[in-house]
Amino acid sequence: MRVAVVGGGAVGVTAAHDLAAAGADVRLYERDEELGDDRTRARHHVEGSSHRAAGVLAPRPTNAIGAEIAERALDRFEWLGDRDHRFSVEPTQQVTLVGADAEEKQESLRKQVDAAREHDVDVACHDPETVAERFPELDLSGVGLAAVTERAAYTTPGPGAYVAAMADRARDAAVDCWTGVEASISHRGDGPRVDGERFDAVLVAGGGWTKHVLAPTGIQLPLKPYRVQALVSETDYDGPMVLDADAGVYFRPHPEGLLAGDGTVPEECDPDGWEPSGDDWFVEGAVEAVEARTRVDASDGADADAAWAGIATATPDHEPLLGEVESDLYVATGWQGHGFLRAPATGEAIAEQILGERDAIERFDPGRFDGVPEFAIEEGMSV
Ligand SMILES: Cc1cc2nc3c(=O)[nH]c(=O)nc-3n(C[C@H](O)[C@H](O)[C@H](O)COP(=O)(O)OP(=O)(O)OC[C@H]3O[C@@H](n4cnc5c(N)ncnc54)[C@H](O)[C@@H]3O)c2cc1C
Repeated sequence: MRVAVVGGGAVGVTAAHDLAAAGADVRLYERDEELGDDRTRARHHVEGSSHRAAGVLAPRPTNAIGAEIAERALDRFEWLGDRDHRFSVEPTQQVTLVGADAEEKQESLRKQVDAAREHDVDVACHDPETVAERFPELDLSGVGLAAVTERAAYTTPGPGAYVAAMADRARDAAVDCWTGVEASISHRGDGPRVDGERFDAVLVAGGGWTKHVLAPTGIQLPLKPYRVQALVSETDYDGPMVLDADAGVYFRPHPEGLLAGDGTVPEECDPDGWEPSGDDWFVEGAVEAVEARTRVDASDGADADAAWAGIATATPDHEPLLGEVESDLYVATGWQGHGFLRAPATGEAIAEQILGERDAIERFDPGRFDGVPEFAIEEGMSV
C-alpha cells in the first residue's frame, strides 16, 4: 500500500512512522526544511505548530474516546522519552485555579473534573488551603476552587524534539521524507494524488493549513485557524504546572526558567499571513498572572522577543476532524489547542484506520456536521 502523508508535525510524523512500521510504503511531505528540532523556544521562520507549542501534557477528557486517546498518548510519550536521549517527558501535576467570585467557572470545573473521573482520570477538586499546603510555591489568595491532575507532564527540551525523535524512527522504518516540498492535493474521482502522483491513500495532517491544502479538491472543512501565544521567562520556577482560569494563563517549569502561555486571539487567522511574534498585551498579562500566583519575578527576560505566537485549530464542537473526507483521502486536524498532547495517539489512530485495522472514530468523523456550519472560536484552555 502506497501512502502519502502531507504535513510533518507531531501528528504527521507519528502517522507516517506507524504506517511504515506496519508495512506500508510511505512518503512524508513537509514544506519546512527540517522535521523537528531540539530547541527550547520557537524559531520565527518555522511555522508548524508542533515547533511552537508549550509542550504541556495535561489531559482532562470528558468522554470515553477522549480518555482512551489521552491515556494512549501519554503512554507513548513516556515510552519514547525512556528510549530517546534527545527527548524527555517530565512528570508533574497540573493545578487548575478558579477565583472565589467566579461561581459559573467553579461549577464548570466541577463538571469537567467529574466527567474526567468517570473515565478514570486521576484528577480531583480540592479547597485552596489544601492545595496551598501541598504546593508552597503557589500563592492561592482569592482562589475559590482548585483541581489537581495527578498524571500530567511536559516535554523537554521543546515539543520539536518529539517530532525530531519520531521522524528518526520514521526514517528507520523506511519512510521517504521529502522536506522543503509544499505538496498539492487533488482528487479526480479515481483516488487521491499528491502533485499529480496517485497514492492508495493520502493523509493530510497539515495543522492550521489543512483547509488550504484541501482547497483544490473542493472539500470544505469546518475548521478555523487562530493565534495562541507563549513566552519564556528566565526566572527559576520549580512548582507544578498551573492553569489560572480567571487570568486565562497557564505556566510550567522550563529548561531556561518558566514558560507561560495562552494569549488566545479568538478570530480566524490566515495561515499564510499571521503574526508569528507575541503581542505586548499577552506578555504583560502573562507576567502579571504568573507573579500573582507565584513568589517569582516573572518579568526576568520576558520581553516581547521572548514571546511567540502560533496556530491552533477550532471546530464547531471542539472535537477533532480525524478520518476520511473522500475515498482514500484522510485528514487529521482540529485539535482546539490540544493537538500536541494527543498526537502520539491521534497519529496512531488515523494510521490504523488507513490500514483497515481500526474502525473510524465516529465522534471525530470529519463528515459529522451538516455542511460547514458557522461557529465561534472558543479557546481550548477555558474552563
Ligand atoms: C503557542 C502554542 C502553544 C501550544 N501549546 C500546546 C500544549 O501545550 N499542548 C498541546 O497539546 N498543544 C499545544 N498547542 C497546539 C499544538 O501545537 C497543535 O495542536 C499541534 O502541534 C498540531 O500538530 P499537527 O501535526 O496537527 O500540526 P503542525 O505541527 O502544525 O504540522 C503541520 C505541518 O504541515 C506542514 N504543511 C502545511 N501545508 C503543507 C503542504 N502543502 N505541504 C507540506 N507540508 C505542509 C506545516 O509546515 C507543518 O509543519 C500549542 C500551540 C501553540 C501555537
